[in-house]
Amino acid sequence: MKEQLIICLKFLRLYHPLQSFYRQTLLFLLNNYYRIAFLKYKGKGYTCNFCGSTYEKFVPEYPSKKIAMAINNNEVIAGFGENVYCPNCMCKNRDRLILAIIQTFLNFRKKNILHFSPERHLYNFLKDKAKVTTVDIMPGFYKNIDSEIRYADATSLNYADNVFDVIIANHILEHIPQDIKAMKELQRVLKNEGVAILQVPYSKKFETTIEEPFIKDPARQELLFGQKDHVRIYAFEDYTKRLEMAGFKVKVLAPESLRQFEKNAIQEGESVVLCYK
Ligand SMILES: [Zn+2]
Repeated sequence: MKEQLIICLKFLRLYHPLQSFYRQTLLFLLNNYYRIAFLKYKGKGYTCNFCGSTYEKFVPEYPSKKIAMAINNNEVIAGFGENVYCPNCMCKNRDRLILAIIQTFLNFRKKNILHFSPERHLYNFLKDKAKVTTVDIMPGFYKNIDSEIRYADATSLNYADNVFDVIIANHILEHIPQDIKAMKELQRVLKNEGVAILQVPYSKKFETTIEEPFIKDPARQELLFGQKDHVRIYAFEDYTKRLEMAGFKVKVLAPESLRQFEKNAIQEGESVVLCYK
């Protein structure tokens, strides 16, 4: 019955907008709850670099039972931890890390930016400061973030070579069966002097990536990869090797070099991968 309803809603092109509306409503309600519940922590400690609020601690998020095995046993850096959501604006630790990187290391003002699956806070920060093109393979999910979002398949982009100064595609490649094909496309549309930020969840423990690129079994995907639509967990070194195979020059910003951003309650222990042509 549930499957039939989903098929019907998809046919009517209502499935993604409704799911997106549901998520946004939930987030709105949670945000109001946390604003009140975290009042007692306000005033000192971590500062959100999106909204400027300061709290002794942020809202934690831990893996659910279904995915805990995949995330915890494999030591996957995937956005979970003690200080995840800003209680005031609900941005995530991974969003705050990327904002810190963009503001500190990137020349992004007035540049041509390609933003995949746009994170609301990042998009809102960038949209008036640069020319931002947003894309996703299921744009319906993101219409309430940018109504102009376009369809794009990362493995076959409808853009000429050397078009974008900055590409932001966070937590995208672990969903894509032919990830190296997508990396090559991202490299192709990036300008020679451009930079791509392509963060993925990765294991600190693995020597090789675990993957089943063409798996279509959400329950098993949760169990193996920690999310029902992921097809792999990257080993970090293998991930950077794949990017190099696709033609990128890779610069890794290790957690030690990101200590200056700990005050922003960023994802603990995460390395940032900057990709150049
Ligand atoms: Zn905030």
